Amino acid sequence: MIDARGQLRLRWVGVLVMGVVGLAVAGGVGAQSLEAAIAADYERELGDLFVHFHENPELSFREERTAARLAEELRKSGVEVTTGIGRTGIVGMMRNGPGPTVLVRADMDGLPVAEQSELSYSSTARQVDLSGKEVPVMHACGHDVHITSLVGTARRLAAMKDSWSGTVMLIGQPAEERISGAREMLEDGLYDRFGVPDYALAFHVSAGDPAGKINVPPGLMASSSDSIDITVRGVGTHGAAPHKGKDPVYIAAQIVVALQGIVSRELNPLEPGVVTVGAIHGGFKHNIISDKVELQLTVRANNEETREKLLTAIERIADGVGRAAGLPDVLLPRVVRLSESTPTTINNTALAERVRNAITRGMGEDILYVVKPSGMGAEDFAYFVQTEHSVPGTYFSVGGTSQADLDAAADGGPPIPSHHSPFFRVEPEPSIKSGVQAMTLAVLELLGRQDP
Ligand SMILES: [Zn+2]
Ligand SMILES: [Zn+2]
Repeated sequence: MIDARGQLRLRWVGVLVMGVVGLAVAGGVGAQSLEAAIAADYERELGDLFVHFHENPELSFREERTAARLAEELRKSGVEVTTGIGRTGIVGMMRNGPGPTVLVRADMDGLPVAEQSELSYSSTARQVDLSGKEVPVMHACGHDVHITSLVGTARRLAAMKDSWSGTVMLIGQPAEERISGAREMLEDGLYDRFGVPDYALAFHVSAGDPAGKINVPPGLMASSSDSIDITVRGVGTHGAAPHKGKDPVYIAAQIVVALQGIVSRELNPLEPGVVTVGAIHGGFKHNIISDKVELQLTVRANNEETREKLLTAIERIADGVGRAAGLPDVLLPRVVRLSESTPTTINNTALAERVRNAITRGMGEDILYVVKPSGMGAEDFAYFVQTEHSVPGTYFSVGGTSQADLDAAADGGPPIPSHHSPFFRVEPEPSIKSGVQAMTLAVLELLGRQDP
C-alpha cells in the first residue's frame, strides 16, 4: 500500500508523548540490550536473510519458497508453524503461558516488475503467475523487510520469554498486492482454528520517509480500495455505417468522462475520494464498430459511507449513460465489484497510543516522524481487525531511505523511486533494526509481565 510519491500515506494528527509510565521495557530488559541484541542478530543472520528474500521474490499466492523459508526460520525459535492457510499463508504460534494473544503480520509477496535498482543483490527471478504467464519478479514494495523483521521479532521474543506471558500469532500473509491474502486466510478459518487475537499489529517500510524513523497514526492509516470492472456492450457494425449499430467505444468514453463528476460534483469537497479508470480495452480495427469495451477502475475512500456513495454512483452513471445511448435493457453496461477489495485501515486510537508510547520509551522520542498525507493507498491488514472480529489494530510505518538521499531529492537531485517502481530500494539495515525493535516493544507492551 503505497501512493505514487513512494510515500506510505499516513494521517498524522499530533503525537502525544506520555510520561514514562508502567513497564520500562517489560521485564526489566533494557532498551540498550534489546537494541544490541537486534544489531548482533542483524550482523549474524538477519542481513543475509534479507538479501536471500530480496534475491528470491515470489508473486502473490505463489510464495511457496518464501513461506517455507519463513516457516523454517520461525520453527528455529520454537514457534509452532502451520502452513497453507489461505493458499500460501503461514501461521506461527508462540505460546508462553496465560495472557492475551497478539497477532503480528508480515506480508510476503513481490510484484511482477523487472528490477533495475542496480543493487548488488538485485532480483533476476521470473515466475509463472496465476494466469499462466511468465513474468519478472521483484520485491518492489519492501515486503522482504517485513518478513525478515518478523523473524527478528520472533527471535527477540523467544529470547525474552521471562519478560512476557501470553501468545504471539505470527502471520506470513500472501497476496497483499492483490489485497486478497488477508481475506483468504480468514476465509480459510484463521480465527476459527487459531483463536481470535486480542490485538493485531503490522508495519510497512516506506521509501519516501527517513530510514528507521517510525510513524504510528492515531486513526486512519489507509483508504479502502475497490476494483470494479465495467463491461460496455454495443452492437457491432461497419465503421462507415454507425447508425446501424451501437458504438461501445463512444459510450465507454462518455462513461469515463461522466465518472469524473462523482468526486468533483457529488462528494463534499472536504471529503476525499478517488475514481480512477486504469484500463480501457475494446475494438479491433479502424473501420469496425465493435460490440464490447472493458473498463477497469480503482475506487478509494476514507470511510464506508463515502465508499458506498462512490460505488453506487458508478453503477448509476454506467447504467444511465447506457440508457441515454439507447441501448436495450439486455445490453446495458454491466458493473462488477471484484473480490480484490479492502475496507479502510483505521488504527484503534487507544492501542496506537500505547504502541507509540512503548516505542518512544524504548527508542527515544526522536524516533517518531511526521508524514504529510499524500494519495490514497490501501492495505488489506483491515481484514484482520474489521468490525465483525472487533480486534483492536495498529499499523505503523518505518522509513527506509537515508535523510541525505531525501534531502538531495528535495533539492532537485535524483528522485526517490516510488514503491512498485523497478528502481525501488530501501536501506535494509536501519529499516529492519527499527522494525524489529518497534514491533518487539509493542508486543512487550501488550504482553509484558506486570509483576516483578
Ligand atoms: Zn505494494
Ligand atoms: Zn506493500
